[in-house]
Amino acid sequence: MFVRTLFLASVRQSFQFKLFGCKRLRHLHRTIDVSAEIWNHAVALHRRYYRLFKKTLPKARLQAHLAKLRNGKRSHWKALGSQSVQAITDRLYLGWEAFFAGDIKRPPTFRKRRKYRSFTLKQTGHKILGHGRIRILGRNYRFNQSRPLSGVIKTVTVRRDALHDIHITFSCDQVQQPEQASKTGLSAGADFGLKDFLTLSTGERIAAPQPLKAQLRRLRKSQRRLSRKQPGSKARSRARLDVARVHRKVANVRNDWQWKQARMLLLTFDLLVFETLNLRGMQQLWGRKVGDLGFADFLSKAGWMARKLGRDLLKIDRWEASTKTCRVCGHRREMPLNMRIFVCECCGHVEHRDVNASHNILEAGRRLRSGASSKTTHGWPDALVTAESHAL
Ligand SMILES: [Zn+2]
Repeated sequence: MFVRTLFLASVRQSFQFKLFGCKRLRHLHRTIDVSAEIWNHAVALHRRYYRLFKKTLPKARLQAHLAKLRNGKRSHWKALGSQSVQAITDRLYLGWEAFFAGDIKRPPTFRKRRKYRSFTLKQTGHKILGHGRIRILGRNYRFNQSRPLSGVIKTVTVRRDALHDIHITFSCDQVQQPEQASKTGLSAGADFGLKDFLTLSTGERIAAPQPLKAQLRRLRKSQRRLSRKQPGSKARSRARLDVARVHRKVANVRNDWQWKQARMLLLTFDLLVFETLNLRGMQQLWGRKVGDLGFADFLSKAGWMARKLGRDLLKIDRWEASTKTCRVCGHRREMPLNMRIFVCECCGHVEHRDVNASHNILEAGRRLRSGASSKTTHGWPDALVTAESHAL
């Protein structure tokens, strides 16, 4: 259940930097390629084992087998430390677990080398040499260290993007947060929408940029150019980079806006309540626009920010009645999608549809927080009270 988080002096935080381009980067690319090879090898082994014995290959056996290969005929795998190999198998088994639990549709599968992106170092294989200088697997690299690192480094991930740039991510524990936002005494419910990204119970409506829409012409053009190139040619890989550049731009704009918005909201409100979303349903109904808005990404950023600032962020189960219920008297009515104003047939309350909904969401969150039992004033279902809560 919900645990109130009052003082959170430290959180887990990632710091990402881009390595300066240099010829030595090719060694990192090669190590990522080796990781891809190990991944694919493990997938193949797992499949064969399953085909023969109709059960999952035990992780320890897979790891022992990979270790043997690494010390034997596949000695080039030694480019990767044993802990990094373990990180690969860990990730694979997480994927299989999620698949067998029904959380994801497809099990982990083979990956093209080009599309394989990263490897992770735990305690060994990296050393910080000074400001913006790091030693990775025995070679020195420089990066633009735009801010100081803090906390205890748990892992270092080396990741390439579609444009062949290499970024390093330090995942740090016990990062002291200099700012604990002071209480404002304000709380709000928030309703996601397509027309207005967020509608708050304060009546404020927040529109989101749609960077993909803005870049669509450029994207289509570069995709057309790509499709005309000879497979395997240099021109084709150049054109592919062009497409990737547009996608990266879109992602950057979206992320930047979302971080700023999440921060602003959580500085303003002590308690923020969201409704979990049926993203798949929305996607089917509305298509590309849902992805462009990135609701789920926004929610996870907001969750992190709440933790950082010591705020409460609650998610209540998706509950369609939030739109259909009068927030004043609890009367329910049908609300077709095109009906933008809620008019209560019972008490005469009139309000914008999403504002009315966000009030209901806030109310549900408050009840969840105070641990209210199934005693309901508006005849709300119990499911609401047992809703998933995130003590972030
Ligand atoms: Zn009413």
